[in-house]
Amino acid sequence: MDQNHVDQAYAEELFLWIYKGPDEEQRKQKLQELANAFDKDAKTVLEAVHSVATKENLYPQEPSFLVPEDAAPTWTNCIGEQPCVPLQYKYPASLSDLVNIVHDAASQNPKVPVRAIGSGHSFSDITDSQGAILVDPSRNLKQVLTVDPSILHPGADAPNTIRAQCGIKVAALNQELDARNLGLINMGAYDGQTISGALSTGTHGSGKNFGPMADFLLSIVLVTESGKVYQIEPSPDLAITNPAKFPGHLPEAPDIPVELKQDNTWFNAAKVAMGCLGLIYSYALRVQPAFSISEVRSMTTWEDVKPHLSSFLDGIDHFELMINPYADDDNKHKCVKVERTRKPLTAPRGYRLCGPWQWVEDQGVHHSQAMVTLLNFAHSLWFTRFIINQALGFLPDMDPPYVDVSHKVLTLGVENTAKAWALEMHFNGEKDCVGTIDSVLAAFERLWEEQGYFIGGPLGIRFVKASDALIAPQAGRFTCTVECDMLYGINHARKLLGEIKRAICDQSSLPGNDSIRVHWGLDWGYTTAEDVRKWYPDLGKWQAVYQEVNPGGMFDNEFTKRLRLRE
Ligand SMILES: Cc1cc2nc3c(=O)[nH]c(=O)nc-3n(C[C@H](O)[C@H](O)[C@H](O)COP(=O)(O)OP(=O)(O)OC[C@H]3O[C@@H](n4cnc5c(N)ncnc54)[C@H](O)[C@@H]3O)c2cc1C
Repeated sequence: MDQNHVDQAYAEELFLWIYKGPDEEQRKQKLQELANAFDKDAKTVLEAVHSVATKENLYPQEPSFLVPEDAAPTWTNCIGEQPCVPLQYKYPASLSDLVNIVHDAASQNPKVPVRAIGSGHSFSDITDSQGAILVDPSRNLKQVLTVDPSILHPGADAPNTIRAQCGIKVAALNQELDARNLGLINMGAYDGQTISGALSTGTHGSGKNFGPMADFLLSIVLVTESGKVYQIEPSPDLAITNPAKFPGHLPEAPDIPVELKQDNTWFNAAKVAMGCLGLIYSYALRVQPAFSISEVRSMTTWEDVKPHLSSFLDGIDHFELMINPYADDDNKHKCVKVERTRKPLTAPRGYRLCGPWQWVEDQGVHHSQAMVTLLNFAHSLWFTRFIINQALGFLPDMDPPYVDVSHKVLTLGVENTAKAWALEMHFNGEKDCVGTIDSVLAAFERLWEEQGYFIGGPLGIRFVKASDALIAPQAGRFTCTVECDMLYGINHARKLLGEIKRAICDQSSLPGNDSIRVHWGLDWGYTTAEDVRKWYPDLGKWQAVYQEVNPGGMFDNEFTKRLRLRE
């Protein structure tokens, strides 16, 4: 069987059969039958089906269910990058499975590294699992669990607390919350990540009064290198659990001892830890009664917004911008201004795009790789600027305000499904946001003029409250984030974003809470060991916890070595 000559009708039949959701055993059996019929191994069959299904656009967004335990030795992220060959794939279904994975890894000689992954939506090497046991909780650890109010402090807000297993996707969690008339306090613009993946990298949305998603954490259940399980919470005066009532285990795992650790440093180290402290089993999260958001997206220019930036920030709950980095002939940068206001739950009204325009936009996103070919072929500032302006033109709401349940408004929409790359930089939002954004725009224009490098997408500007997480990119300061997004396959993309990181982050001599940091997941490995030492004043505190729970390096990988996190 060769990837170009598999029978399309057959691939389609197999694809639909798999997609309609038979259980894993049946799937494996069917794959084996196919493999026998073609005299090939299961992986080759899968690759061929995958290839045809991709060409024929048979897939919905997530092909991950096509990666069975024994058929796909190479793991890649959502855009097919950061390939690695794990020693084994594990799909734990319980806390005891996680503990057993750690014990098995420790008992091997030599010891085997272990790395948890989420849904592979980070572009950096934080998921690197080369030669390691790759732990993928997204299949079987995705329940919303019960909260036992009898073990909480009297002041704890039990009705607005949920417990969730690590592998649940943000979209599924939102559905579960809808059913309980609850909502996440804030979220990013996408919901395809797992909750543990999103929280572990400092994933954030926008809003001056809202920190990264990890700041809504109340406790974290973590399996450490020794196999010991901790429920980590802030110090007792801030913690949710009453230590006198804590039974020493979780309700759903009475046989596994759990130590309650109420310590601010541990808690703030574990909130954003990129998989380096151990295997997260579950979280307790602060949520709130379900609410709606009213959104108005309008087309303007950066030059018209910037004099009023601070009043927009103060007056609008979730304010963000999407800016074309290339100015029009009038020297103004086209920009979509997004104003989102929180409202009590009301019936949906308005919409972003009406049916035919939505269809046109869907087609544009669906065929974005053709656009990449055109952009690369044209290699023209005029054409690139035009395409980015056209893309921005689809964003303003056609029937404003668009009002819906919070997560539907906070999620960007179909644009998230375009195959894209991104680098996101985090600035101190208290210090000259306007000047900083101007300097990023100037860097893009300079790199076009000097090198002919262009970005195939707008810049997303968001604002995030300071976080207590020791090494969150928003640690210790109100943050302005600049996301440099571009379609996958744009020529010189890697070089361009590398130059941008150098021009903006490396050339800034600002240390500590004034430094310019890069998002842990929206990075291509540009962050260096020197950077993390310069950027994070509390790195040493984080490292002390890391050494304590991961003393032998079981959860280390290429990323931890590259950044010399153990030194
Ligand atoms: C289309 C798209 C949209 C995005 N939108 C936003 C956005 O709006 N805002 C934003 O801030 N970022 C955004 N990102 C970045 C993304 O949210 C982060 O990179 C996030 O970490 C990805 O989550 P994931 O589930 O794919 O985890 P992965 O990328 O698979 O893993 C991320 C990290 O989490 C660790 N991890 C995962 N599960 C566990 C576990 N159970 N125990 C221990 N460690 C674990 C992994 O080891 C790894 O270090 C976006 C990315 C994409 C591709």
